[in-house]
Amino acid sequence: MTSHLARNYAPLPVDIDTAEGAWVTDVTGKRYLDMLAGYSALNFGHRHPGLIAAAREQLGRVTLTSRAFGSAALEPFAEALAALCGKDLVLPMNTGAEAVETGIKLARAWGYRVKGIPAGRAKVVVAANNFHGRTTTIVSFSSDPDAREDFDPFTPGFVTVPFGDADALAAAIDDDTAAVLIEPIQGEAGVIIPPEGYLARVREITAERGVLFIADEIQSGLGRVGETFACDREGVVPDVYLLGKALGGGVVPVSAVVADEEVLGVFEPGQHGSTFGGNPLAAAVGLEVVRMLETGEWQERARLLGEHLGEKLDPLIGHGVTAVRRAGLWAGIDIDPAIGTGREVCEHLMARGLLAKDTHGQTIRFAPPLSIRTTELDWAVEQLSIVLA
Ligand SMILES: *Cc1c(COP(=O)(O)O)cnc(C)c1O
Repeated sequence: MTSHLARNYAPLPVDIDTAEGAWVTDVTGKRYLDMLAGYSALNFGHRHPGLIAAAREQLGRVTLTSRAFGSAALEPFAEALAALCGKDLVLPMNTGAEAVETGIKLARAWGYRVKGIPAGRAKVVVAANNFHGRTTTIVSFSSDPDAREDFDPFTPGFVTVPFGDADALAAAIDDDTAAVLIEPIQGEAGVIIPPEGYLARVREITAERGVLFIADEIQSGLGRVGETFACDREGVVPDVYLLGKALGGGVVPVSAVVADEEVLGVFEPGQHGSTFGGNPLAAAVGLEVVRMLETGEWQERARLLGEHLGEKLDPLIGHGVTAVRRAGLWAGIDIDPAIGTGREVCEHLMARGLLAKDTHGQTIRFAPPLSIRTTELDWAVEQLSIVLA
């Protein structure tokens, strides 16, 4: 049978039918441990009972109002999310790419209206090997040929510097620079962790130079790294948080831009929006996600499980693995090319009942639901060592 799906993905050949917690079951009844967790959209596991209950409750009330009207669900979500971030205002959107686009528009409007950049000249400094989404503007500053080829002409106004090099970043900033936009840890690039002190220096440099620091925490944020945000690892507070993925609890797409009044206050009615952004169903699920993160238990769990995962993965270095990079319950594992490609290893893992995703050829990412058990993590690493042997 030929597929009617466009071929913009090359999924592993599994058709998932049902899921619960860290496990999924395919149409033949075979079970798999989910070590990708929807690229961290499923931080709390599949169908977390609290999130499903919040969604069900809201389904019985109202699901969509549009922002032409208010909803009872939206303000409580915004209030809780702003508090979680320590900021004043929330601008709700749907997908991560929309949050990034909103962040770019925000940076430009702030640059002209607050900083006083001359018309048409605002620039945003970004990092090489970034992943911020798939819109035409966002791929304009990607360094991945697959993401760009034949999608030009591109949006101007971006300057790329190497990731992790604070001096290069400082040198790229001039009077027309509105913002620096980076992932505090580069997820799609293979869980690339910048040198210690980098985020703190980015914070210092941007504050000194009067430039917004926009942190794309869409994949790194909301518990994954053992803290609420990856920026917390260096005690850094950016001017703007971009959030998505786990904010929707794996139930609905929910993203947001979160910042203080003097930044996010630049938007006036009519200047930006979204039909579905902040809809009552999204707000109800998002509020429950924020409540779950308020106690710090998920962050603590990611920290402890991550340390355990690291202890199990590190001994594989030199045995089919050339490097392991880890932050909380998030690991980039570089596979020795002598063993095979990341994709081949993922196919063998799939046959053994474990779903993981390769990135950039030789890297496999482990980002299981934070609800996974220690014994399940042990089992996952055991499957990996069998496949590598
Ligand atoms: C996934 C991701 C995005 C894009 O999110 P979508 O919901 O797929 O549009 C943006 N930034 C980062 C860091 C991401 O990981």
